[in-house]
Amino acid sequence: MIEHPLGGEVLVKRDDLSGYGRGGVKTRKIERLFGYMLTKGYNEFITVVANVTNLMHDMVPVLERYNFHWQVFIVDEPQLPTIARKGLFKDVAEKVHFVGPGKLSVASSMIWALFTSLNRKHHPFLVPPSLMHPAGAIGSASGFIEMVDQLEASGISLPSTVFITAASGTTLAGFLIAENILRHAGHLPIRVIGVQVYPGRVHLWILGLIRWTERFLGLRERVPADRIELISSNLYGGFGIYPAKVADLCRQIHVDYDLNIDPIFGGKTWLAMESYLAQRAVSDNRPILYWHCGYTPDWYRLDQLVNQADE
Ligand SMILES: *Cc1c(COP(=O)(O)O)cnc(C)c1O
Repeated sequence: MIEHPLGGEVLVKRDDLSGYGRGGVKTRKIERLFGYMLTKGYNEFITVVANVTNLMHDMVPVLERYNFHWQVFIVDEPQLPTIARKGLFKDVAEKVHFVGPGKLSVASSMIWALFTSLNRKHHPFLVPPSLMHPAGAIGSASGFIEMVDQLEASGISLPSTVFITAASGTTLAGFLIAENILRHAGHLPIRVIGVQVYPGRVHLWILGLIRWTERFLGLRERVPADRIELISSNLYGGFGIYPAKVADLCRQIHVDYDLNIDPIFGGKTWLAMESYLAQRAVSDNRPILYWHCGYTPDWYRLDQLVNQADE
């Protein structure tokens, strides 16, 4: 818990300390998704990730530990020179396939991967980007319930609002499902605000994943579509793009609170939370919660790469 100068208590949920791969909120998705694969007897994992990703680094230890076959495609987004892309994936370069930007090259690569896998008599599991699968969302949902349990056990008031970074929005989708279940079980409503860091129709993907997961679980209570709240004003034109003030804010957060936050994901969310704190009504005496989703350790290096590629 920290005292924020803009007023009030800010709780920080430290998923950056999850201690697996790079750590972070993705551990929750990974745990459930690979657990699901194991119980269903799938032995080959096929998916696609972008150039700038923490997911890949988090998944590799699990893929290796359980001896899954895997084919992962890296889509060229944000667009980078080949040498830079190879550098980012140097620990796994032999095992990933670099594909061009755009949906078509992704789709054809995935179909090819599926075909080769079936041909080898494997049981392939084709997962949408960012583990946007109900098993992933359920992992995130358990995280939200864990947060509520921890606060209730320690007698701290539940937050009125949770700020979470939304890249694909898988985590946000899971949180909204969990919040809805808790709400119907008589807990205080919690507003969940996603801060968009990846451009595109994230809203639609989130709604789709929520409905898919509700059906997957056979839930009767459905999350109303208007509960998906996304702040898009901190996108600054794209994934991985941010003005110097966001980078400065991240450095300052490190000095003030000893938290490692990068400007690609968490810094944008922190900024949105600060605008919210500055405007919120004084009558709101419940704390605010910032969900620390993890950290991109090479963001300094990426900063240079993305800017070079833009020129
Ligand atoms: C992946 C990631 C997120 C958000 O994940 P989604 O579930 O895809 O929205 C947020 N912050 C960091 C640092 C991440 O690596």
